[in-house]
Amino acid sequence: MAEAAQENPGETAASTPEGQWGRVIGQLKQEIGDVAYRSWLASINLQRIEGGEAVIATPARLYRDWIASHYADRILALWRAENRQVKRISVVVAPTTRESPSPAAAADEGRIELSQPPPALGFEPASGVDSDEERPQPSGLDPRFTFENFVVGKPNELAHAAARRVAEACSAPVRMVPFNPLFLYGGVGLGKTHLMHAIAWHVHKNACARKVIYLSAEKFMHQFIRALRFKSTMDFKEEFRSVDLLMVDDVQFISGKESTQEEFFHTFNALVDQNRQIVISADKSPSDLEGLEERMRSRLGWGLVADLHPTTYELRLGILQSKAEQANMHIPRKVLELLAHRITSNVRELEGALNRLVANMQLVGREITLESAQEELHDLLRTRERRVTIDEIQRRVAEHFNVRFAEMTSARRARTFARPRQVAMYLSKQLTSRSLPEIGRKFGGRDHTTVMHAVRRIEELKNSDPILAEDIELLCRTLQG
Ligand code: ADP
Ligand code: MG
Repeated sequence: MAEAAQENPGETAASTPEGQWGRVIGQLKQEIGDVAYRSWLASINLQRIEGGEAVIATPARLYRDWIASHYADRILALWRAENRQVKRISVVVAPTTRESPSPAAAADEGRIELSQPPPALGFEPASGVDSDEERPQPSGLDPRFTFENFVVGKPNELAHAAARRVAEACSAPVRMVPFNPLFLYGGVGLGKTHLMHAIAWHVHKNACARKVIYLSAEKFMHQFIRALRFKSTMDFKEEFRSVDLLMVDDVQFISGKESTQEEFFHTFNALVDQNRQIVISADKSPSDLEGLEERMRSRLGWGLVADLHPTTYELRLGILQSKAEQANMHIPRKVLELLAHRITSNVRELEGALNRLVANMQLVGREITLESAQEELHDLLRTRERRVTIDEIQRRVAEHFNVRFAEMTSARRARTFARPRQVAMYLSKQLTSRSLPEIGRKFGGRDHTTVMHAVRRIEELKNSDPILAEDIELLCRTLQG
């Protein structure tokens, strides 16, 4: 008990409407990225909760319409995962001051699912804007996160293939467990959650009688603690140990949390013994996860460990094309290339930038061109600009043309050495803010006129020599990527 309390000190504050709202918005921010968040969600507030309806205040009609059509579904789904009593979301235009929720609403809140078995786990009916609407739908699953919407490229092909295998095996008439567990890992925003939801959707569609539980490790912990507190640990165990497929997202969260790990370990073993599939995700590989008990670590590595690598330019471009198509938007290829080129951190950020362009186009009726995109995403593109150093340029160029690094500063004038040196000077001028004399100094103390000459020469050659033009394009990309 003592540890439980320590693991979850904020329980009381966290279950107020504000606490729930905070988490809903926090989660949504994670999902849609900083840019879309700042554009749309930063200026909205929870006004009140009354009779199962959560009223969200926005500063203007524009916001109201956009939020109602783009985010209300998701807000409701996330909210219902927190609190089943919320049945509807209504989005209104109102001054931004935050009203405190009515006492009646607060009292309502107190009752949430204390005596029930773990809520919002697997497939539960209804998560539309209006939850009275029939059509049972798994709650807590993002409808966009399907295999159909997942773009496959080199960096994620193994993880994708493994996830598909698991999804198909779990949906087969005779249950099979290809590898147990499937452990997916990679940095933020690379598609781990997307793949897990895709597995769940696939099983739901093809074998809806199978019991699937998808939840974050954090939620697992909270439910476990709640079960401890309300002495319903038997229900808790029952609930988890009767599933066909258990997926736990972001297990790094339970590192250092011993009693949760212990329970998770037992659940894990019980499921493996019964030949039930488990899928786990984390930000690191089992061997790199810190604060994990040794036996836990080794268990996690038993099955297939598949990592999602950082995206490549090609994958980013593919994702953008697919998202633009899904949104039914025509966006010039040049614009997509710009985004794929410059926003390299993760897919979430990339989507955020695209959403912002699309929003702008729809709201202001402005056409997307390379110029308008650059202007609209000015802040984002600027902060993404990497600071390239002359040293780095020299190193990359030498590597690319297969000459020694020392040739960058040497006095040798043979074309084999002079040309790469000129390219490096040209790139130094283009990609850094250094002056010509500064660049000259970095190239073995050459005069600024030599640098100027090199820049002009390469500019000419770029127009007449397509191979050189390609070399430069490639170097630019790798240096900035
Ligand atoms: P993670 O869980 O690894 O942090 P997510 O699965 O939440 O990342 O992905 C972040 C966003 O990027 C989601 O909107 C997801 O749909 C999108 N995304 C990531 N990878 C791909 C992909 N290969 N194809 C399409 N969308 C992707
Ligand atoms: Mg995730």
